[in-house]
Amino acid sequence: MLIKDGVAVWVDTTRCKACDICVSYCPAGVLGMRLEPSAVLGKMIEVVHEEACIGCRDCELHCPDFAIYVADKGFKFAKLSAESKARAQAVKANRYEKLGA
Ligand code: SF4
Ligand code: SF4
Repeated sequence: MLIKDGVAVWVDTTRCKACDICVSYCPAGVLGMRLEPSAVLGKMIEVVHEEACIGCRDCELHCPDFAIYVADKGFKFAKLSAESKARAQAVKANRYEKLGA
């Protein structure tokens, strides 16, 4: 699964082990963990703000389980905004859980 038309970043939740690493690296507050009682660790990765993805690939490169994918360079990614940066900080301060859950 390497291409998903028109989508900046997507996840394969069957592979995700909920380690939080991708969330910790994302500079744009795109990712967050959602509570999911049926998952082993009680949470699961979620692409919360796909429209804010800048295509840095930090999530994909650091995921130990190859569970997250980023579109190719040709994709029109967003630019890093002050709002995105602030959201990324807020998510980290929220123990990597998505905001407002
Ligand atoms: S490619 Fe970069 S901005 Fe996009 S979700 Fe991954 S870490 Fe965040
Ligand atoms: S780095 Fe990979 S395994 Fe860890 S939470 Fe993110 S998608 Fe899941």
